[in-house]
Amino acid sequence: MQRTIIVGASHAGAQLAASLRQEKWSDEIVLIGDESALPYHRLPLSKAYLADRSTLADLAIRSPDFYAKQRIHLLNATVEKVDRAAGHVILHNGDALPYDKLALCTGARPRRLLTPGADLAGVYYLRTAADCRQDPGGRQPRLSRRDRRGWLHRSRDGGLVASAGSGGHRARSDRPRPRACHRARGVGVLRPDPSGKGVNIRTDALVEALSGVGRVREVALADGESIPADLVIVGIGIEPNTDLAAAAGLAVDNGIVIDDQARTSAPDIVAAGDCAIHNMARYGRRIRLESVPSAGEQAKVAAATICGKQRKIAALPWFWSDQYHHKLQIAGLNSGYDETVLRGDPTRDGDFTCFYLRAGELLAADCINRPRDFMFSKRAIAQKLPTDRTKLSSPIAV
Ligand SMILES: Cc1cc2nc3c(=O)[nH]c(=O)nc-3n(C[C@H](O)[C@H](O)[C@H](O)COP(=O)(O)OP(=O)(O)OC[C@H]3O[C@@H](n4cnc5c(N)ncnc54)[C@H](O)[C@@H]3O)c2cc1C
Repeated sequence: MQRTIIVGASHAGAQLAASLRQEKWSDEIVLIGDESALPYHRLPLSKAYLADRSTLADLAIRSPDFYAKQRIHLLNATVEKVDRAAGHVILHNGDALPYDKLALCTGARPRRLLTPGADLAGVYYLRTAADCRQDPGGRQPRLSRRDRRGWLHRSRDGGLVASAGSGGHRARSDRPRPRACHRARGVGVLRPDPSGKGVNIRTDALVEALSGVGRVREVALADGESIPADLVIVGIGIEPNTDLAAAAGLAVDNGIVIDDQARTSAPDIVAAGDCAIHNMARYGRRIRLESVPSAGEQAKVAAATICGKQRKIAALPWFWSDQYHHKLQIAGLNSGYDETVLRGDPTRDGDFTCFYLRAGELLAADCINRPRDFMFSKRAIAQKLPTDRTKLSSPIAV
């Protein structure tokens, strides 16, 4: 009887475990996670869960029955070390658990704000369900009941900025998904009506310091402006959890380096999700994608690799997000574009698509409430279909 151990029980880990069974791995699967909940969807954390409109059970990626039926053993523990020579992982309680195959799905943690005052009360990060609930014994400040209820309770569906804004308070952010989404278009359209939601988005604004006596009261910007604040939620990106991999001697470079079959630099260890980085030939460089679709796709490939099958990570990244009533879908990465073509009018319509081209070739598309454009773009970019600008800007389906 062989054993696959998966470290990290979230989007990538849960998918990998399920895919192993689909790929006919009949032996043991142990899914180890240091969060006490069943693997859950992170997306609603900044939306319905934060606003108390859903419970952790509602957010579960799979039901408890699923894991039991599929003989996926869930273990709530922290893996402290991978001992490759011995072929086992060491848990926080000192137990050593042998593996035949190992998958690292350790994800990422929020990047910390390093400005003066960043450790004041009232400054929060949001990555886990525990971050949304007060946990006095925890190692980091959790969103207190008072803060959550007082400022965020009335939130409507939207991202983090949207949730804060609907409570009638100011939020600071650039645009959603800045790496993937066009600056001008993303900000212009996804910015909610300021008069309706009370959200004031500042772009190109550098936070220099937070101040207050014991608790945050003010945010100082580099241009000299001072903004009163009762609550600050920091969303300045994430850092991949690569410590385990690095200590085990695996190649790490802003992520655990994997090939297009999700193999790390050690043959019996795969990795997937936010912690992993791989070379994308299409873009000529290594890229670490931070998204649910990508975590899922990499996990499926990793499961196939463990089962001795040859599958490759999809060449085209894609993303989605909900911002207020807008459904944002993004196909491809727009870096290096030299032209944009618009279908629809962002200033007037609730739906539009922004196509990005380089030397006439379609590179990426931001689709706002336009699922058909998204499907078309995914196919056209992946297959490098010839693109006709006139048709792209036409409202008729291409
Ligand atoms: C509020 C919010 C909104 C989001 N919205 C979107 C969206 O709209 N669209 C989208 O595509 N993506 C979105 N994301 C990003 C998405 O959630 C991530 O891309 C996804 O969670 C990555 O999954 P993962 O399994 O790779 O990593 P993670 O979700 O980070 O999970 C890694 C897990 O491994 C555990 N772990 C780490 N080290 C160890 C260890 N040594 N031992 C045991 N366990 C360990 C961690 O505690 C964690 O539970 C959002 C994220 C957040 C927080």
